[in-house]
Amino acid sequence: MSRTRDVIVIGLGGMGSAAAYHLAARGHQVLGLERFGPAHNRGSSHGGSRITRQSYFEDPAYVPLLLRSYELFAKLERDTGRSLMTLCGGLMLGRPDSRAVAGSRRSAREWGLPHEMLDAAQIRRRFPTLTPAPDEVALYEERAGFVRPEATVTAQLQLAQRAGADLRFEEPVTRWEVLPGGAGVRVHTADGVHTSGHLVICPGAWAPRLLADLGVGFTVERQVMYWFHPRGGTAPFTPERHPIYVWEDRDGVQIYGFPAIEGEDGGAKAAFFRKGVVCDPETIDRTVRDEETAAMAAQLRPRIPDLPGRLRKAVTCMYTTTADEHFVLARHPEHPGAVTVACGFSGHGFKFVPVVGEIVADLALTGTTEHPIALFDPRRSELRHSATPEGETTS
Ligand SMILES: Cc1cc2nc3c(=O)[nH]c(=O)nc-3n(C[C@H](O)[C@H](O)[C@H](O)COP(=O)(O)OP(=O)(O)OC[C@H]3O[C@@H](n4cnc5c(N)ncnc54)[C@H](O)[C@@H]3O)c2cc1C
Repeated sequence: MSRTRDVIVIGLGGMGSAAAYHLAARGHQVLGLERFGPAHNRGSSHGGSRITRQSYFEDPAYVPLLLRSYELFAKLERDTGRSLMTLCGGLMLGRPDSRAVAGSRRSAREWGLPHEMLDAAQIRRRFPTLTPAPDEVALYEERAGFVRPEATVTAQLQLAQRAGADLRFEEPVTRWEVLPGGAGVRVHTADGVHTSGHLVICPGAWAPRLLADLGVGFTVERQVMYWFHPRGGTAPFTPERHPIYVWEDRDGVQIYGFPAIEGEDGGAKAAFFRKGVVCDPETIDRTVRDEETAAMAAQLRPRIPDLPGRLRKAVTCMYTTTADEHFVLARHPEHPGAVTVACGFSGHGFKFVPVVGEIVADLALTGTTEHPIALFDPRRSELRHSATPEGETTS
């Protein structure tokens, strides 16, 4: 058995790399265990870009975390010299009473966030690639934009290692156990056994396997990201001219998309927000069918007519969704002295990665945090009886 560390972190994706970095930076001995390689593409933190925004339609309770996350992304950029966040502006579009518009407006007003409301004519004038219906409006947020998932994970791994963390890749955890009498935890991997005082579990889509005793139901969903080459070329779609967007139709279906980002093969990425099919991370079908691409193009065509030109590529990714689509971020209720969990990010977690790292470090080291995380309690009533029978979707 190898020597005992202060903390073991299982999973070095978005959240785990942030946790390992924050724990190591506070002077603790950290062992990180990851089943795949660094910044890999088989979980939930790949695909070149993730939307970030502050006028959060999901719930105003996320706003203070976003404000801190922006600060920490900027610090990560300074500390590593990498470009991780681009604030190209963002539009939340739909009818005035849609969740995307009304929810974003509520958060903006509640937190005094700078924003503009635009009617359909104003949207068309300012953003000529977009053709909203006459009854659609948008909330425009200048401080919205995108962050880079692989580069962020790489930056956090680099800083964690620089602070002394021992990070092991291609070392899958097979099981973990809490030792009696407050003696810490034991983690079994394909290569051996490790012990530590505390365990942090950031399993992404493997939450149903690694956190079966958490009492939370997770639905793991296969999602597809599509990169289209705009019909008239990428010039009107560059980040200097094109915002990110979340666009909700009258049935509540949301799509979202990005400008054409450098290094993305001349394509602009778009996707359905949710609308995935239930999958298992071990057996997920990574082939994207023509019918799926056609459905994406059909949703885009009336809204951004120049976008669904030629498909450059389509890539799958996974959401790990809870019944109320809010995160799970807490000490493990069954093992409060020994285990901290960060999971169930429900398809909207990446923009929070750095602040989750800070919160996990607080929880692991002190059992508490000054950040407002009441919404993420694994014992909340919304999650009771929410375990999803296999093969069914919650949406
Ligand atoms: C298509 C798509 C689009 C998205 N768009 C956005 C967006 O625009 N904005 C936004 O904020 N969020 C977005 N998200 C969500 C966001 O990317 C996720 O919430 C976030 O990446 C989750 O990070 P994670 O650390 O929980 O999971 P991951 O990054 O997948 O990390 C989990 C890690 O645990 C490892 N692991 C699992 N089991 C074991 C084991 N037994 N042993 C060792 N290691 C193990 C895995 O290999 C993996 O590396 C999107 C997600 C997808 C899929």
